[in-house]
Amino acid sequence: MNMRGSSLRGARETATRLTVCLCLLAVAAAGCSSGDNGSAGAPSGSGAPGAARPGESTLAARREAMVRNIERGYGLSDKTVLAAMRAVPRHEFVPPKLRRLAYADGPLPIGEGQTISQPYIVAEMTRQLHLKSDSRVLEVGTGSGYQAAVLAEITPHVFTIEIVKSLADSAARRLARLGYDTVAVRHGDGYAGWKARAPFDAIVVTCGAAEPPKPLIDQLAPGGRMVIPVGEAGSVQQLQVIEKDADGKVTVYPLMAVRFVPLTRELR
Ligand code: SAH
Repeated sequence: MNMRGSSLRGARETATRLTVCLCLLAVAAAGCSSGDNGSAGAPSGSGAPGAARPGESTLAARREAMVRNIERGYGLSDKTVLAAMRAVPRHEFVPPKLRRLAYADGPLPIGEGQTISQPYIVAEMTRQLHLKSDSRVLEVGTGSGYQAAVLAEITPHVFTIEIVKSLADSAARRLARLGYDTVAVRHGDGYAGWKARAPFDAIVVTCGAAEPPKPLIDQLAPGGRMVIPVGEAGSVQQLQVIEKDADGKVTVYPLMAVRFVPLTRELR
C-alpha cells in the first residue's frame, strides 16, 4: 500500500478502531456459549444436504486466511503461535457437517452442549502462556482437543483434562489419529488439576470459573502463567492471566471480556 503521513496515521487509527470493534465482536462470539442457546456466533443451517464438502486445498486456503485474519485483523504477531495455528487442521476437530465453517471467525458447537472457541481466542490464550519448546502445560477443558493440538505444536509436554467422558474419549482418539501422540488426555474434574504431573509452567482453562481454582494456582510452577476466564456461569467473563513469580507471589492481569461455557464439577 502506498500511504504516507497523515493518511497513514488515519489508516492506523482506522485499523485500531477496527481492531477494537473486532475485539468487541470477540466478546460476543469468543468462547463458548453453550450450544443449546445458540452458541453465539455459530452460524446455522450449515449442514445443508447436498452441500459440497470442501477439498484439502480449499481447507488449506481457508486455514491460511484464518491465520492472516488473526495476524492482520487482530494484530497478533507472535510467530510461534501463528505457525501453530497454521499447522493444526481445525476442520478435523469440528463435526463433519460443520467442516466448511471450520475456519470461520467464530466458535462452533462440538456436541454435548460444548463449543470449540473462536480461532483468535485460541491463539491469544496460547500467546499469553509464553510457552517454550520444553514447557509443561496443563489444559482444563479438552473439548474437541483443538487447543491441545495447538499447544502440542509448540511443546510435547501437554496434559489435558475433560469432565465429559465421551468428549475426552473422542478427543484422545482424534489427537492420536492426527499424530499428536504426546498429548496426555484424562477424563476427570480439572478443578483439582493433575497433581501427579505438576508443576506446570503454563495452565490454560477453557471453561469459565467463578474464581481461579486454588489447586491450579498451587500446581503452577514458579515463573508460570495461567490463562483463565473468570466470572459467573452464563455471564460475560473476564479473561485473566495469573502469573506466579520466582518467589511464588501471584499477580492477576485482566485481558478482555469473553464468554465461555462454565466450569462444572460433575463428571459426565
Ligand atoms: N478447549 C476446547 C474447547 C473447550 S469448551 C477445544 O479446543 O475444543 C470447554 C470444555 O470444558 C467442555 O468440553 C467442558 O465439558 C469442559 N469442562 C467443564 N468443566 C470442566 C472441569 N471441571 N474439568 C474439565 N473439563 C471441564
